[in-house]
Amino acid sequence: MNGNITRASALPSHETGSVGRRVPTEWFLALRLRESTSSGNLFLERVPKSAATRIREIASLIQLTVREPLIEAGQPVDFAYFPLEGMISNVITMAGGEMLEVGVIGREGIAGCTAGLTGGLSATTLYAQGAGSALKIARNDLLPALAQSGMELLLAYTESQIAALSQFAACNRLHTTDQRFARWLLMAHDRFAGDAIMLTQELLALMLGVRRPGVTVAAMAFQRAGSISYHRGRITIVDRRALLAASCECYASVERRFADLMGYSIRK
Ligand SMILES: [Zn+2]
Repeated sequence: MNGNITRASALPSHETGSVGRRVPTEWFLALRLRESTSSGNLFLERVPKSAATRIREIASLIQLTVREPLIEAGQPVDFAYFPLEGMISNVITMAGGEMLEVGVIGREGIAGCTAGLTGGLSATTLYAQGAGSALKIARNDLLPALAQSGMELLLAYTESQIAALSQFAACNRLHTTDQRFARWLLMAHDRFAGDAIMLTQELLALMLGVRRPGVTVAAMAFQRAGSISYHRGRITIVDRRALLAASCECYASVERRFADLMGYSIRK
């Protein structure tokens, strides 16, 4: 197991609990899964029922906490994650320490399925981008669980991630900080419950690969225009239509491609 995964907030697995705690733990897990029905993982809702049932049987429900590294660059990918709530950032770190977000994963998909599928090392680090929850499954269990009936959807999801990576590579080179900021806010808005996103400008600058003053200027401009409100690391989406108008084409393009491939959308 990846030794850097924060386990303190992880809920106990129903398969690893002691005999004496086994039943209460299973009840707790079942209750939590029922509670999260309205914000469950959309991939698991779409995949054939036999595969989804198998994954729910063998996965552990964990809590996500901000900046928690779930998969680390240069390390084996031991687990995959089906987010139920919240967002996970896929981040690449250059030799000089510069970081750039190259993708996000929420309840529409799986974190860790496109890295290390063949047992190799991850090229990127995946961070939880805020509070949330996810189903955690050992990589060695994921493919057998999907092999009978879920492989087609997994391949479609992998293709959607390659398409998103291509789009964001162009976006990071060609589009302005304001456009990318709006795109990021829309993607986060789709994946977090409600309209508030907890994130410091420093972290957002890291995610967008720009200096913090650039993010501050963009945030102030959007706040003046009434698109967002920002206070002490809490960004609230006030006018989603305005953000759609301010974003580059990349938000809509990636979401449209995802919906075409997967047959469902995460858009609010
Ligand atoms: Zn763009």
